Amino acid sequence: MSNFYTDNPDIRFCLDGQDMDRAIALREGDFGEAKIYEFAPRDAAEAREQYEAVLKLAGEICGEFVALRAEIIDKEGNTYRDGEVILHPQLRACIDRFREADLMGLSMPRRFGGLNMPQSVKIAVIEMVARADASLMNIVGLQDIAETIETFAPENLKNDVLPGLCDGESTAAMVFTEPDAGSDLGSVRLRADCEDEARNLWRLNGSKRFITNGCGDVLVVLARSEHDVPGARGLSSFLVKKGEGVRIRRIENKLGIHGSPTCEIQFNNAPGHLIGTRKRGLIDAAMEIMNGARIGIAAQAIGIAEAAAREAVRYSESRVQFGKAIRIMPPVYEMLANMRIRIEAARALNIRSAHIVELLKSLQVRANEQKATAEEKAELKVLTRLAAAVTPLSKYFATEMSNQVCDDAIQVLGGSGYMKDYPVERYFRDARITNIYEGTTQLQVVGAIGGITSGVLGNDLDQLVKKGLEGAARDLFAQVQELRPMLDEAIALHKENKDQEFRELYARRVVDLALDLYLGALLAEQAARGGERKRALAEAFFANMKGRFRENFAALKDGSRVLLEKHGLIVGLQ
Ligand SMILES: Cc1cc2nc3c(=O)[nH]c(=O)nc-3n(C[C@H](O)[C@H](O)[C@H](O)COP(=O)(O)OP(=O)(O)OC[C@H]3O[C@@H](n4cnc5c(N)ncnc54)[C@H](O)[C@@H]3O)c2cc1C
Repeated sequence: MSNFYTDNPDIRFCLDGQDMDRAIALREGDFGEAKIYEFAPRDAAEAREQYEAVLKLAGEICGEFVALRAEIIDKEGNTYRDGEVILHPQLRACIDRFREADLMGLSMPRRFGGLNMPQSVKIAVIEMVARADASLMNIVGLQDIAETIETFAPENLKNDVLPGLCDGESTAAMVFTEPDAGSDLGSVRLRADCEDEARNLWRLNGSKRFITNGCGDVLVVLARSEHDVPGARGLSSFLVKKGEGVRIRRIENKLGIHGSPTCEIQFNNAPGHLIGTRKRGLIDAAMEIMNGARIGIAAQAIGIAEAAAREAVRYSESRVQFGKAIRIMPPVYEMLANMRIRIEAARALNIRSAHIVELLKSLQVRANEQKATAEEKAELKVLTRLAAAVTPLSKYFATEMSNQVCDDAIQVLGGSGYMKDYPVERYFRDARITNIYEGTTQLQVVGAIGGITSGVLGNDLDQLVKKGLEGAARDLFAQVQELRPMLDEAIALHKENKDQEFRELYARRVVDLALDLYLGALLAEQAARGGERKRALAEAFFANMKGRFRENFAALKDGSRVLLEKHGLIVGLQ
């Protein structure tokens, strides 16, 4: 029996590192829902048991069912005919499996048919799904959209669409991108006109492209409601149902994630309903989706990397060259070890980020219900800023890591890795989208830099170090502490420089410095808690990290202007 949860104890280890008692207390309160729903937990121990059961069940479906179908889905893809998208029958079968297991509304409230599980548990499930089939993750992972509808939509719309989404009977799509509005969503043009304010009825006209599962039943659409207001302030979010005025024009023919239908959609006077506050479409609804989507895509990237690394290890043990298994050749085991270190670093950061988002969302609910104490309100402010810093950092690191790991996995397999006979070429193709959609790597750097220069991330880092210096891995934490003043110096240099172009060019280096120390602290924390293997893994991370950190710092201090002044000449455009 293959189970993607029980065969990967690191997932449980990362979850155990979070303050689950707090997450449960905020989600379940006095466990009052146990009186209403038969399946709701009666205490924290029962809640934990339920999380464990869900993780095991999802792990089994992924290992025993989904993973066996990924290759054929990748090979044959979905079909488009006369405005209809016909999902591959095996993809449909996988969705049905998740439906039957009641795993389509993991973190949604029970009143809509959800399981009310924390974000960290949901993220762990998403990672396992992606390890089995990255395409399927794009449908199972769209549960975030239901959460956004739950947060922003009026009650009648919630009651209309959320039970279907939690049940898996219907699926959703996040409809933002247009031909002229990709990274720059503030220039979205699709037009929304109010037809009947009392009935909250709008009409949408225009087109969208590159929409994952755009053929889904419930669409959250970013549109321009204020025609004379340019930029983000003229945008609002709308809920549109498949049907009247919505036509799928085509599905894209693309490099990877072949099971995930990427649609071009035409809206012709399609009826829609405003969700959230008018003119705050990009600021509220879209940003809420972004926070969840960043950790979701990071989990997808980690899942793909996990699959690739395992395949590489398997192959390296049986492949013999020069009379010995390639597995024991230093350049090969260096690649294998680096894959494992990066994957576990990414998972540590992503599960922590999910936990931060979880606490933030729970406190937001309490604040909205006027139940938050003064202390909780203060914590909410800190968490809002911390989530805005760690989620782009996590997406940036995990998705770049996944590309590197899949590239190395092909290298370990040599020529065989390049062939369709092994799945690593598919992992490589699937990983490539992760650092593009839901905000490219460059945009994640833009998203993360503010939280680094404002000191939000540094404060969290200092708390981790302070605690860690008293524990079993104090020597590793001391190394973070030793490098810490250089991060402050780098931030000061960045802030002092008034040349915006210079700052943009060097932002990634500042982000990398902060990321290296933060990951160092997370792995040191794991070394203190885990056994000999976690300690060795952290030591190996530090051995590489310190050199990389100093090199980055030196380049920042040096501050060469050659690219600023001569990039046109070098590229050949001047
Ligand atoms: C398979 C697939 C599925 C998708 N699914 C969805 C979906 O479900 N819903 C949806 O709304 N969209 C979706 N997208 C769209 C996706 O989010 C965008 O493609 C992505 O945000 C990048 O936009 P773009 O392609 O227009 O590239 P551009 O914005 O044109 O970017 C091109 C390059 O310029 C860089 N760049 C742009 N601006 C900056 C800047 N300010 N600073 C530094 N660098 C910059 C980018 O990093 C990139 O390297 C999907 C795309 C794909 C390929």
